[in-house]
Amino acid sequence: MIIVLEPGITPEERQTLERFLRDRSAVLRGERTPQGELVVVTANPEGVTPDQALGFAGVARAVPDGQGYLHAAREIHPEGSVVTVKGVPVGGEAFLLAAGPCAVESEAQMEACAAAVKAAGGRVLRGGSFKPRTSPYSFQGLGAEGLRVHRAAADRHGLIMMSEVLDREDLAQVAEITDILQVGSRNMQNFPLLKALGRQAKPVLLKRGLAATREEFLLAAEYILSGGNGDVILSERGIRSFDPSLRNSLDLASVVLLKEMTHLPVLVDPSHATGQHRLVLPMARAAAVCGADGLLLEVHPEPDRALSDGPQAILPQDLIRLSFDLAALLPVVGRSFPVPA
Ligand code: PEP
Ligand code: MN
Repeated sequence: MIIVLEPGITPEERQTLERFLRDRSAVLRGERTPQGELVVVTANPEGVTPDQALGFAGVARAVPDGQGYLHAAREIHPEGSVVTVKGVPVGGEAFLLAAGPCAVESEAQMEACAAAVKAAGGRVLRGGSFKPRTSPYSFQGLGAEGLRVHRAAADRHGLIMMSEVLDREDLAQVAEITDILQVGSRNMQNFPLLKALGRQAKPVLLKRGLAATREEFLLAAEYILSGGNGDVILSERGIRSFDPSLRNSLDLASVVLLKEMTHLPVLVDPSHATGQHRLVLPMARAAAVCGADGLLLEVHPEPDRALSDGPQAILPQDLIRLSFDLAALLPVVGRSFPVPA
C-alpha cells in the first residue's frame, strides 16, 4: 500500500499514523516524490486497509497494492503528473511535440531537423546515437560523436535533447549530455537498466515493448519510479500484430486506458507504430485528439538516404503542416498548440 500525505500534514499527525501502522507490524519507508510525500508500506502482515489509513488526519489518499504498479497508479496523483524538463511541461494541459531523425547522422542532417522542429513549435529534438538495430550489420549509431552533434543542434535552436540509452555501460556517457534519456521498446524489460535509471536525476522516456501488455509497461515504469526517479514519460509506439503489412499496429485505445491507469504523461510515436511515412500524419492527428500528451515523430531532410528508418520519416515541411493541424485540433480536447509564426 502507498499512503499519500497531505502537503500540510503536521509532524504529530504523521507520527500518529506511523505508530498505528508499526504497532500492526507494518514496515514503512518515507519517500518524497514529485507527486508529494508518500509513506510506502513495504510489508503489511496484519493487512491494514487503505480505508483504515484514510481515517487518519493528514492522509490524502491510500492506494492498495492489488495492481502491482503502486507509484505509477493514477490514484497516487489523480490530476495527472507534469514532468518538467528545463522549464518545459510534459503532461497536464500542455501538448508536447518531439521530433528528429531516427539516428543522428551528420551536422547538416541535425541542423535541418532542429530547424524544422523549432519552426513547427516543437520543444524536443530526438535522435539516437546508440541505435538498437534488429540486424548487427545495420548502422549502429555514431556514439559519442553523435551525442556531441545532437547537443550542439539542440542548443543552437533552444531545444531539449532526447537520446536513447541502450545499456548500463553507456548510461553515464549519455546521461551526462542529454536532457531526456530514452529507453527503447526492446529494452522495456531490461530490469538492470531500469533500476539504474531509477537512480538518475534525469527524466526518462520509456517506450512500450513491442509485445508488452499495458500492465507490464506500467510495471517497467514502476522500476524507475520506485528507484527514486519520479520523472517518467511513457510512449505508446505500436505493438506487433499478426499482419505483416505494417511494421506495428498503433494501439490508440491504450492511450485512453493508460491515462486511466496511471498519472504519467503518455506520448504517441506514430512513426514506429506504422513504419510508413504516409500514415504518420493521420495517426498523429488521431493521437492528438484521443488524449495523448504529445507526439514523438521521426523526421529526416532526405528520407531516401536515411541510415535508419527512412521509410517512416516525414519531411521537415510535413512537420510544419502537422503543427497547423495540431493548432486547429487540440482545442477540441481542451489543449492548445501555438500556431507557428
Ligand atoms: C527509436 O525511437 O528510434 C526506436 C528505436 O524506437 P523503438 O524503441 O520504439 O523501436
Ligand atoms: Mn527509429
